Formats: sequence, C-alpha cells, structure tokens
Amino acid sequence: NSAPAFRPPRVRAEIDLAAVRANVRALRDRATGGAGLMAVVKADAYGHGLLPCARAARLAGADWLGTATPEEALALRAAGDTGPLLAWLWTPGGPWARAVEADIDVSASARWALDEIVAAARATGRTARVHLKADTGLGRNGCQPADWPDLVAAARAAEAEGAVRVTGLWSHFACADEPGHPSIAAQLTAFREALARAERAGLRPEVRHLANSPATLSLPASHFDLVRPGVSVYGLSPAPEIGVPEDFGLRPAMRLSADLANVKRVPGGHGVSYGFGYTTPGPTTLALVPAGYADGVPRHASGRGPVLVAGKLRTVAGRVAMDQFVVDLGGDRAEAGDEAVLFGPGDAGEPTAEDWARAVGTIGYEIVTRVGARVPRVHL
Ligand code: PLP
Repeated sequence: NSAPAFRPPRVRAEIDLAAVRANVRALRDRATGGAGLMAVVKADAYGHGLLPCARAARLAGADWLGTATPEEALALRAAGDTGPLLAWLWTPGGPWARAVEADIDVSASARWALDEIVAAARATGRTARVHLKADTGLGRNGCQPADWPDLVAAARAAEAEGAVRVTGLWSHFACADEPGHPSIAAQLTAFREALARAERAGLRPEVRHLANSPATLSLPASHFDLVRPGVSVYGLSPAPEIGVPEDFGLRPAMRLSADLANVKRVPGGHGVSYGFGYTTPGPTTLALVPAGYADGVPRHASGRGPVLVAGKLRTVAGRVAMDQFVVDLGGDRAEAGDEAVLFGPGDAGEPTAEDWARAVGTIGYEIVTRVGARVPRVHL
C-alpha cells in the first residue's frame, strides 16, 4: 500500500541546467563590442536535451538559438519558443514554408536554396527571414566567393519584391580551435570582403556572425554582431589549445553515471568479455557497468575508457558490449547498485568527457552528443 521507493534509472545523464545558464552568461560576458549570443542547440543540444537546454539558454540571456536542421527549429517552435531562431542545414524540398510561417530564420548557401525560399514566401504570403552564408574558406557549406555576387543580387531582388528580408550574413571557421592558424586571418578577411560586397549591393542585415566556441573564447575580432557558441554552452572547452573550461568560468553540464548491475569475485586467469580482451591477473573483483555502445560508450574505449568506481579511477576491462562493460576492482569492494561515474564536471574525482575523448582518440563533442537515445536525461 506504499508507493515503491524511487529508483533512478539504471543509466542516466544528469544535466545541470544551472551550469548551462551560468555558461551562457559567461559566454555573453565574453562577447565584445556589444555582440549578442546565439546558443547553438543542434543535435539535441549536443546530447543534453533540446527543450530544457533551449529554455535555460533563453533564461540566461541568449538572444538567438541556432539549430542545424529545420526539424530541430520546428520542435522549438512547437514547444513554445518564440525568440529569434536560425536553422541552417537544408536540402532541396525542405520544410521552408513551415519554417517561414513559424518565423524561423533560414539560411541560404546557394541559388537553389534562395529560389526555394522565395517560392515558400510567395506561397505563404509571408516575408522569409534569410541569412546568406558565405564560404570564407571552410570548404563545407556556404557560397563560394565567385558565386557570392549572384546570390547577393538575387537576394536583393527578392527583398525588393517583399519575398525575403536578408536578416543575416554569416560564415563558419575551419581552424578557430588552432590559435594562430593562418586560415583564421584569411577567413576574417574573406568574411569582411563578403560583407562589403553584400552591403554595396544594398543588403542591410540585422546580424553578421562568424564566431563558434573557440572564436568566442579567443578571437574578439571575430565577434561582429553575434557570437555562435555550441560546445562551450554545455561547459566543454572546444580544444585543449584554447584552454580548460575553468579558464573561462565554464562548467561541464552533463554527468553520465550508472548503477553497478553485478559485482563478483573471480579467480586469476579469467577471460573478461567478448574475445577475452582482458584476463584477470589474479583473484579479483569484477564490477559490471550496465552501459554499452548502444548508450554511447565508444566500443573503441575497450581497455581504455576511464570510470570512477568505489572511489578510484579504473579502466574499462576488455570489450565494451552493446549494453554493458566490466571494470576490475582488484582488492576493492563494491556492491551491485553502487554508482559508477563515467564522466562529469571532474571535481569529484570522476573523469570528464574530455578525458574520454583523449582516451578514445576523439573530441568531447562526440562523447556527449553520442550518449544514446535510451539514456534518460535527468534535468536538474
Ligand atoms: N556554427 C555552426 C555552423 C556549426 O556547425 C557549429 C557546430 O559545429 C557551431 C556554430 C558551434 O560550434 P562550437 O560547438 O565549436 O561552438
């Protein structure tokens, strides 16, 4: 007749929304020359949960939100977000009309995109808000300098017709995480040229923006009207060369932990997990962590990934399986149900997402964004 005691989920990603808010404030304070801040919340807010993080960012003063896909931006509108919002990664036939009707700013890197935007504006009777994206050297999305005058002229003509309003001019860095890289100065110059060209053609954007996290943190000359940080909103440094989170008053917001599913004594010489990638060196205690590659623990972390169990840092013993992996506790004791911490802010002895990234040869971005869909995000 009494309710069962609350049991936290077996694996959980706790998200410290106070950290997200504090990070946004710290980043906004770093924006120079009165620049505003667009918090990038794509990819489910880098794995941290789109809607709670978007709300936290707005509360902390984010002037804009940015997503990659239109679906992410539409989800924000469906949840009631009404502020300035840009979605930048489109394919032909995308939901332009729905975005225009939902007051989502859209991005065009090519004539085909601008043409589809104009068609959506005519169909809806609305004026589409468009950011023109220049490729200033990244070689990914964005309009090449040779095609920029044509894109700009077409956008100006569409403005004259009332179909679009060019609200933004923007670009993206290739190597802002490598301070002093010669491409940084070259991209700044190319961006200024693209802006000048657009302004000569009569475009008067509300915002010009270029700076991702590393540029927000280390390159004030790139701040223009808006900085556009992503990973630092969630408290990760974009690269060791830029600094550690504490250098900038940032705090990692995600803590990934699990309850041990089993703890048992085994003899020496016992193979552990698929393929026996690990063999116990002597009689020992093995603990089973119920998180695997389906939860975002990289399989490549086999024999490498760091975990805090029973007060000490351990290493994944043997292969990471789909749902679980093992750690060798040696002579230490633990019980099923005790907590294993894969990563967190790092101030309680636990590894950080950055430690995982180093251990498996990737970047912190990938560690947090790949936390699996079945891991509940618990927003604190
Ligand atoms: N702007 C664009 C176009 C991006 O693709 C990204 C993310 O990759 C960002 C901004 C944010 O970058 P970061 O997470 O390094 O701050």
